[in-house]
Parts: sequence; C-alpha cells; structure tokens
Amino acid sequence: MQAFTYATPSTLPDAVRAAGLADAKLIAGGQTLLQSMKLGLAAPASLVDLGELAELKGITVSAGKITIGAGTTHAAVAASKEVQGAIPALADLAGRIGDRAVRNRGTLGGSLANNDPAACYPAAVLGLGATVHTDRRTLAADQFFSGPYGTALAEDEVITAVSFPIPDQAGWQKFVQPASRFSLIGVFVSKGPAGVRVAVTGGGSGVFRATALEALLSGSWSAAALAGATVSADGLNSDLHGSAAYRAALIPVLAGRAVG
Ligand SMILES: Cc1cc2nc3c(=O)[nH]c(=O)nc-3n(C[C@H](O)[C@H](O)[C@H](O)COP(=O)(O)OP(=O)(O)OC[C@H]3O[C@@H](n4cnc5c(N)ncnc54)[C@H](O)[C@@H]3O)c2cc1C
Repeated sequence: MQAFTYATPSTLPDAVRAAGLADAKLIAGGQTLLQSMKLGLAAPASLVDLGELAELKGITVSAGKITIGAGTTHAAVAASKEVQGAIPALADLAGRIGDRAVRNRGTLGGSLANNDPAACYPAAVLGLGATVHTDRRTLAADQFFSGPYGTALAEDEVITAVSFPIPDQAGWQKFVQPASRFSLIGVFVSKGPAGVRVAVTGGGSGVFRATALEALLSGSWSAAALAGATVSADGLNSDLHGSAAYRAALIPVLAGRAVG
C-alpha cells in the first residue's frame, strides 16, 4: 500500500472539489478500487469517500421511471420492493452480482464508472435506455459508455443517480464465469419507452447493443424470433474461459431465454 489521504465530504460540491485535486480518486464501495490499489494498478494520492452523501442513496418511482441513487448498494437494489415491482429483471441482475459481501458494499455508481467489460449494470443501463445523472449533466446510456473501462465521465465528475424507464417487458440472463462470478456473457433485453433493446456484456470489447437481434425482436417479441440468429464473433474476446466464437454463440441463446 502507498500512503494516501482520506476525505469524507458531507456535501456533493465538497466531494466534487476534493475529486478535482491532483491524483484524487472517488471511492464508493471499494470493491474494485481497493483491489486495484492492492495490486498496484492504482495509486491515488487521496481518496474521496462518497459514503456520507445521503443524496446519492435511495430509490424512487415516479411517472414511468425508477430512479436509483448512485450510492445504492447492489443488495439494496435486489431487495427493493419498488425495483422488484417495476423492473424485476433489474432486481434479479443486482441480486446475482458477485457474492453477498460484494453486493453489500458495491454500488450502482461504482459499477458504471468502472465499466468493467464483464460487469452486469452496464448491460441494464444500456438495455433499458436509462439516463445517467451526474453532478453537472445528464447522459443517455448510448452516450455514457466508451469501450472497456471507458466512460464519458470527467475525472472529477460524480454520478449521482440513474433513471430507468419502466419497460413493458425486460429480462436478464447471465452465463456466469464461475471463477470470478462476472458474466462470461450477459444479455439484458427490454421492450418499452426506449424501443426494443438488447445489450450484451462480457464480450471483452465493452458493453454493446446487438442491433441485429433488436431488429428481429422488434418484428416479434418472442424467443422464436431469434431461432437461428447469429452474432459475429469479430471484436469479441477469446480466453481460457471461452473463445470468441463461443461467446458469440451464447448471445442469441441468452437473448432468447431473457425474452422468455
Ligand atoms: C469478487 C468480486 C466479484 C464481483 N462480481 C461482479 C459481478 O458478477 N458483476 C458485476 O457487475 N460486478 C462484479 N463485481 C464488481 C462490483 O460490482 C463492484 O461493486 C463495482 O465494480 C464497483 O463498485 P464500488 O461501489 O465498489 O466502486 P469502487 O470500487 O469504490 O470504485 C470503482 C470506480 O468507480 C469510481 N466511482 C465510484 N463511485 C462513483 C460515482 N458515484 N461517480 C463517479 N465515479 C465513481 C471510483 O473512482 C473508481 O474508479 C465483483 C467484485 C468482486 C470483488
């Protein structure tokens, strides 16, 4: 471990100010950042803990959307009656992230800011056409993600909440990589205010929309519509857990199961 200072701001403007200092890093649940620091992959001069900011926590339902504070843990989302009622697939997704310890510390905002290419939440945000709110602007899901570990966020920008439009239909299927519990491939599908969307995580190239599958499901929202559908393996990852071709083959299969 390298030495670092540790701040616990109690207001959002203070947090943004502290995050703007040289080599500062925001920390939420620490489930990714602390591991990176232990491995020497990150060595911030200061940590700015978002844990004291009450405005980053909580879940509200209003006029066709559900808004979840960025500091809300995966366990709280999974257990929320509001989320279970409005978007059961989202509660299911949160409840299958990592293990109990990870779900009790990890947060929605941390997952999105980190944008691990195999993370679950990016698929739900893109697959539902959600809106990401920060301390200074709102970003549509299609503008937020920019490749593995990449986002549109500035260094000192704090995600405050995410608004998910409540869909008519939605489903989530995760083919678990058993060593890490991340997705080897995960597919989130939805039909609703944002149209028909199919978002894929775990491919290695960052979360993306499977537009060919979206076209098929727009014609008929049914697993049968995807029978025989294929997805190109170009750009997908090959590793000891599965080849690019294997990952590509999983995508239409999981999308069909997610449709139900
Ligand atoms: C064993 C294990 C298994 C896991 N399995 C899964 C899994 O199956 N699926 C999955 O999706 N994830 C999985 N994760 C990751 C987990 O979901 C983390 O919670 C998540 O990636 C990071 O969230 P955090 O709140 O812990 O963020 P932190 O680790 O605190 O921060 C991560 C990054 O986000 C930034 N950040 C945090 N909050 C904000 C904010 N509000 N605004 C701007 N930037 C912010 C930090 O500066 C940092 O760069 C796993 C982790 C572990 C350790």
